[in-house]
Amino acid sequence: MTKQTLSFQAEVAQLLHLVTHSLYSNKEIFLRELISNASDACDKLRYEAINDSGLYEDAPDLEVRVSFDKDARTLTITDNGIGMSAQEAIEHLGTIAKSGTKDFVSKLSGDQKADSQLIGQFGVGFYSGFIVADKITVESRRAGMKETEGVRWISGGAGNFEVETITRPQRGTSVILHLNDDALDYASAWKLKGIINKYSDHISLPILMEKEEWKDGELINPGDEAGGRQPGGMVKTGEWEAVNKGNAIWARAKKDITSEQYTEFYKQISHDFEAPLAYTHNRVEGSTEYTQLLYIPGKAPMDLYNREKSAGVKLYVKRVFIMEDAEALLPTYLRFVKGVVDSADLPLNVSRELLQESRDVKAIREGCTKRVLGMLEDLAKHDKLPEAETPADGVTDVVSAEDKAEAEASAGKYSKFYAEFGAVLKEGLGEDFANKDRLAKLLRFASSTTDAVSVSFADYKARMKEGQEAIYYITADTLAAARNSPQLEVFKKKGIEVLLMTDRVDEWALNYLHDFDGTPLQSVAKGAVDLGKLQDEAEKKAAEEAAETFKPLLAKLKEALKDKAEDVRVTTRLVDSPACLVVQDHGMSTQLARMLKQAGQAAPDVKPVLEVNAEHPLVKKLDGSVHFNDLAHILFDQALLAEGGMPADPAAYVKRVNALLA
Ligand code: ADP
Repeated sequence: MTKQTLSFQAEVAQLLHLVTHSLYSNKEIFLRELISNASDACDKLRYEAINDSGLYEDAPDLEVRVSFDKDARTLTITDNGIGMSAQEAIEHLGTIAKSGTKDFVSKLSGDQKADSQLIGQFGVGFYSGFIVADKITVESRRAGMKETEGVRWISGGAGNFEVETITRPQRGTSVILHLNDDALDYASAWKLKGIINKYSDHISLPILMEKEEWKDGELINPGDEAGGRQPGGMVKTGEWEAVNKGNAIWARAKKDITSEQYTEFYKQISHDFEAPLAYTHNRVEGSTEYTQLLYIPGKAPMDLYNREKSAGVKLYVKRVFIMEDAEALLPTYLRFVKGVVDSADLPLNVSRELLQESRDVKAIREGCTKRVLGMLEDLAKHDKLPEAETPADGVTDVVSAEDKAEAEASAGKYSKFYAEFGAVLKEGLGEDFANKDRLAKLLRFASSTTDAVSVSFADYKARMKEGQEAIYYITADTLAAARNSPQLEVFKKKGIEVLLMTDRVDEWALNYLHDFDGTPLQSVAKGAVDLGKLQDEAEKKAAEEAAETFKPLLAKLKEALKDKAEDVRVTTRLVDSPACLVVQDHGMSTQLARMLKQAGQAAPDVKPVLEVNAEHPLVKKLDGSVHFNDLAHILFDQALLAEGGMPADPAAYVKRVNALLA
């Protein structure tokens, strides 16, 4: 292939521009990203070589080399991993394959602080090289391909790149950064070692740098390595040495790891710029042996709702990397968790298919799920600052400054978690039967008496009215629709709290949860309203009488609306509104049916029940009206509108209303 010039995918060009303009305050991460790519490339080689040892050629020791040339102003990261073919270089370095790229780029605002966080989550990877380089040359050869099938890729990071075929004897990839004027200080062994220690110590491959020696220098200022000696300066010796510790953080003892190191490792594997909300690190022994290091991020990724895609746990077997995103290690509803599982029992050549069936993996999944739920329970428990109690004996407990600081650091974390991931957690009700009760305790909702999404089922139960026998809830598209729903009227009047559920997943998830701790869950929009003991005898009697006197009218309404309504009845549910729609006790709600249809899925035609408020003037006026038929349809269509639905024939609705207005 002769030299050709190609354009970056439009999103890459945009991203590159932003990377160089938003990330300059955190320049040094480019090295972490490039070393991480180099290490991934070695992991991939090791994995492919399990079935084809020829790929190792004559260099079985995998390594990463970092070198620099002050005069040429270059910094080079070389690995002897899997390498890239010309086609792969074009695809991998010229486009972004990740789902949601467009979406991501469109979210960038130009505000540097906000953008750099977004970019951090997305992971800029290779492109971060352009923070310090005004040109990058990549030379690579894929393992197993001929020497003459190497590739050279060059780009100045603006708009396009060049590729050509080259001869490259050694397997793997060299990324040569041509440092820009502001980044010349990276051409220093001392500086590079510092960054590697900070970000890449856990990488299990050796990261090598050429040893340097002082030439004719005298120690003038001990301790000041950078400038302490004169005059020949540092010269390279031709000998390479490993500069990273090389032990995987998860394999070390907890007590030897600082929380900064845990955070740093998290940032490395998640590309997040922020610290995680929580983490858990354990060695599990017993019939299945493994180590888990799992993190809960503070922010949801953009593709959180894509159940097909994201899984965030890497699988290692005895410290050998096996695969990224091993979805079998955690249930889908915990796909936001990041981390590492290192198994001592699985075979090295385990495939994704095999993982699904392995009993060891099943045990690991159960163990990891328990740990994650445990972490969440812990966050939930410490979400609110403990209220200052006034003890009976008048002596206030002394709270140590440490405990206080810890409580303050933990406060609000669960709320933060829930705002980002709560909806996904609910999927667990249908997915993880064994942990249903634990999950139900972790759920939080808005309610008719509170604004924040902060009410747990337990909170609700504690506030239930004397004689109340069910946990009442309503599902709607938005919080405003839920709050103003006619179905809520009688509950408001009686001061009964109702949980407001507005996540798309709620309706589905609640199919799997019929009660909480023995108290049934009852939708206020399903079945006949039955307030049981909350209704007094007089009210019940009035309702029965109304039903009796309205019988002829109801029959007429039923006839007029026979294509639309399953039934028409009088209700005590309403106070201010003339009518509302409900569905039969175990029927699918009109809202869920609507959602399914919008998503292009088969949904039954739900015929709701129209309930009318016998006390309402409009309803009273119906009887004997010459417009009976129009009024009946308007009553029905308005009830549909009130819950966010759409009349089947909107034009007919408008005509009817206009006819009456005129
Ligand atoms: P990510 O690593 O998140 O996929 P990058 O932009 O860092 O994104 O890299 C894009 C792709 O380029 C990688 O997925 C990989 O296929 C390829 N790549 C990058 N660096 C190397 C390398 N040193 N060796 C082989 N392939 C690489």
